[in-house]
Amino acid sequence: MRVLVTAGPTFEPIDAVRYLGNRSSGRLGCAIAGAFNARGHRTRLLLGPVATEPPAGVDLLRFRTTEELGRLLDRAWPEADLLVMAAAVADFRPEPGSATAEGKLERTGSLLLRLVPTPDLVARCALNRRPGQLIVGFALEPAEELSERAAAKLLRKKLDAIVANPLETMDAETIDGTLLHSDGSSERPPEHGAVSKDDFAAWLAGRVEALAARAAGGAATGI
Ligand code: C5P
Repeated sequence: MRVLVTAGPTFEPIDAVRYLGNRSSGRLGCAIAGAFNARGHRTRLLLGPVATEPPAGVDLLRFRTTEELGRLLDRAWPEADLLVMAAAVADFRPEPGSATAEGKLERTGSLLLRLVPTPDLVARCALNRRPGQLIVGFALEPAEELSERAAAKLLRKKLDAIVANPLETMDAETIDGTLLHSDGSSERPPEHGAVSKDDFAAWLAGRVEALAARAAGGAATGI
């Protein structure tokens, strides 16, 4: 497969030196790209502004903002068979004009930043897909509402599967994740509880390969 993985946070500029960001380290997304590459898939990684070392052997492109990631996806998605959208894309960014992206704002009093929602990039990819292209998204939510919210996101964004993981995953060494499928089924790594991100990535790559094989089989038999 031609696999496209996104990883890391987006930084939304407030001025020339400040930004709105989040604590994503990009570690899980890098591990996922490495796992697909190790299994012989041609893998491209779109990586945000993180210090995490990307895996060797993948085709690497960097982004900072949601807008930049959107432009990279617009070009790379048509050429891929699978998108794994692990990037922690900002949900809001400063409204253009409510702050300046040039120069440095002075501390002259209170500053009101108006935020506007970013475009939902993974949903856009799902709308613009050709038959046979698969999409796996991520949902990072509080443990109590995790499976409900992840299942709702899977449907709303029209994904094939979603990795549901609790808030504690962000910037951590381990992940306690569940893969939810669009048919309502779910699966977890055989170990109980949290596993290392490398182990989870290797397990996920195997499960997504199986999903792709089922989808290809269904298409071939006309199901
Ligand atoms: O809506 P929420 O941010 O919780 O959804 C998480 C999933 O949607 C992740 O796969 C993330 O990469 C993606 N996303 C996106 N564009 C956004 C926000 C999230 O593609 N603006």
